[in-house]
Amino acid sequence: MCCTTTIENDSTNVQPTPAHFSLNACIFYSCIKQPSPTSETNARRPSSPPNAKTMDLRRRLPPKPPSATFLNHQKAVTDGEDRSPSSTKAGVIDRSPSPVPKASDALPLPLYLTNGIFFTLFFSVAYYLLHRWRDKIRSSTPLHVVTLSELAAIVSLIASFIYLLGFFGIDFVQSFITTARGEEDSFVLEGEVEHHSEPKPRIMDPLPSLALASEEDEEIVKSVVCGSVSSYSLESQLGDCLRAASIRRQALERTTGRSLLGLPLEGLDYDSILGQCCEMPVGYVQIPVGIAGPLLLNGCEYMVPMATTEGCLVASTNRGCKAIFASGGATAILLKDGMTRAPVVRFATAERASQLKFFLEDAINFDTLSVIFNKSSRFGRLQNIQCAIAGKNLYIRFTCSTGDAMGMNMVSKGVQNVLDFLQNDFPDMDVIGISGNFCSDKKPAAVNWIEGRGKSVVCEAVISEEIVKKVLKTTVHGLVELNMLKNLTGSAIAGSLGGFNAHAANIVSAVFIATGQDPAQNIESSHCITMMEAVNNGKDLHISVTMPSIEVGTVGGGTQLASQSACLNLLGVKGASIGSPGSNARLLASVVAGSVLAGELSLMSAIAAGQLVKSHMKYNRSNRDMAAIASTV
Ligand code: ADP
Repeated sequence: MCCTTTIENDSTNVQPTPAHFSLNACIFYSCIKQPSPTSETNARRPSSPPNAKTMDLRRRLPPKPPSATFLNHQKAVTDGEDRSPSSTKAGVIDRSPSPVPKASDALPLPLYLTNGIFFTLFFSVAYYLLHRWRDKIRSSTPLHVVTLSELAAIVSLIASFIYLLGFFGIDFVQSFITTARGEEDSFVLEGEVEHHSEPKPRIMDPLPSLALASEEDEEIVKSVVCGSVSSYSLESQLGDCLRAASIRRQALERTTGRSLLGLPLEGLDYDSILGQCCEMPVGYVQIPVGIAGPLLLNGCEYMVPMATTEGCLVASTNRGCKAIFASGGATAILLKDGMTRAPVVRFATAERASQLKFFLEDAINFDTLSVIFNKSSRFGRLQNIQCAIAGKNLYIRFTCSTGDAMGMNMVSKGVQNVLDFLQNDFPDMDVIGISGNFCSDKKPAAVNWIEGRGKSVVCEAVISEEIVKKVLKTTVHGLVELNMLKNLTGSAIAGSLGGFNAHAANIVSAVFIATGQDPAQNIESSHCITMMEAVNNGKDLHISVTMPSIEVGTVGGGTQLASQSACLNLLGVKGASIGSPGSNARLLASVVAGSVLAGELSLMSAIAAGQLVKSHMKYNRSNRDMAAIASTV
């Protein structure tokens, strides 16, 4: 298998063209007309043409030697050929007829006529000879005494038998070779037979999307494909991250037989992700970034970047921002700021586990533990230790401030320092894991919902009756009622954990991706309870979102990458805050909450006004857009 390339093998997609029929197939179908199980299967497909003859004639293409396929494939790559939409789309195979010459080309008469003659000849002379045989038995004539006509009949029988055996037999043997080689090779797909009348070289699909840079690179690609060079070591061996990614990508395309065309390679600084953001890169995914705003929050205006592929989301959030702006803005208050990590340690007895719990929770020991913990970073500052026991196992939840970093690395280092220190007084403590899930990171957990993790923020706004009517196209009463029945009662009935909102996760995820946060942390960061109440004698709407676990940072991780950094810059929270460490990350958390407030306001209004489906049809699944797309394909 080394250094070979395979492609998709899907026998259900087998579809022949008339030019590909073996003689056997033609005899079988043209003369006997008994459809095979394959043809029946294909005939049932709705997309297959209702042409009985075409359906009867379905057969797999004759195989091509893998080397020829590979050469065609290589040629197409270097020549830059076959990159038209039809041939370069993932999963599309070049279904052109094979140019391989066929035995039937040598026949003087059309194939169906030759087959018909030989079939007729065979059966008629067989009938004649049997008839004669019966007469001879009845008249006691010796069988070896033959007339001239009987001799001619015997010769004709043998000749036609050889003809038929030749084609049936050869094709039978060929079918094994075909199965062994051809099924790994290429197939034609249904519905495309008529579209390709001109023979052209078949190419292996998918195509590699890159031309080889040099012979040296080609050798390295081969080594990676064969396994003599490990893919993960390319960066360190080559000292060139872009080149490493390019070689890895080509090796990947060859080993999988799948094209990465469409996944960009150039345009990313691969050095910036090395050892920090992504291992073994082969490209990057493009996600559009939209802008919602201005979001008027605590007296300042923010243009909020949102990376999403969900139509309607940015437009909806933007509408919410507009309503908030027109009503005088929103206010966000940061309630808490502390990242957590909770190791699990085990003792021989529950009594010993309890002794450590008492020790850790005793205020007298806190200062000592803080000094130990804080040694790990200029910014990590221990705030709290909370313990939970399960038998003789102890879960210790450390909370610390982390400056402008999201803080997982920072808190983990501090925890390790403390655990090392505790081994002196508790040598029987067995550290099972630095994370015991009481933290709780990237999993829905009540502890985060109740205690908070990262930044806890509450954000509120009063939307005037007029704005509710004009911008949001609904009523205060309608919104309050919907919020009570959907976000509160409905979520309670669903047994929700922190999901008392309409779509906080939509906004959180989009802002997280745009600003280089860890998207997996949207699980707890999206915990949110949305409250709505009629105020000012029932005329205006008070709306709030309370989000206890927004986990964000402006340094570390993906925040330092160029595009994510640009989005942070747009919000004015790029990097570390020099004057007041932590203020950038806290402001980012407030912006997230403010954006969620806008998103909640708009979506709830759309639902209350019965506009949800309509707006999604407009921005998400527009008929016009589909028509435009269809015309360009
Ligand atoms: P995380 O803990 O979120 O994984 P990192 O450890 O990747 O974050 O990044 C934090 C690093 O950034 C630390 O080395 C820290 O010393 C440095 N740093 C510089 N300025 C700040 C700041 N204002 N707040 C937090 N960390 C900072």
